Amino acid sequence: MYRLFLIIGLLIMLFLLLKSLYRSSKQAGRPSRPPLDGDQMVQDPVCGVFVPRKTAIVQQVGGISNYFCSQECAAKFQEQRTS
Ligand SMILES: [Zn+2]
Repeated sequence: MYRLFLIIGLLIMLFLLLKSLYRSSKQAGRPSRPPLDGDQMVQDPVCGVFVPRKTAIVQQVGGISNYFCSQECAAKFQEQRTS
């Protein structure tokens, strides 16, 4: 009975190992590019929501890009900054 658990455990470990190997080889095959694609998730500093970079509202403040989920949040951020 214990042997069965052992075999199942080993199979799970093997599966996880293969999965991680597959993932790392997939990443290695990709050109090393910083994750600055449109798919990158950015956090709205006002409401804390994560939004895809390509759909986020971008506001440059002192050379730093801030990303917002909506115009309302961008406006709120401006208010907080000026007050
Ligand atoms: Zn927001």
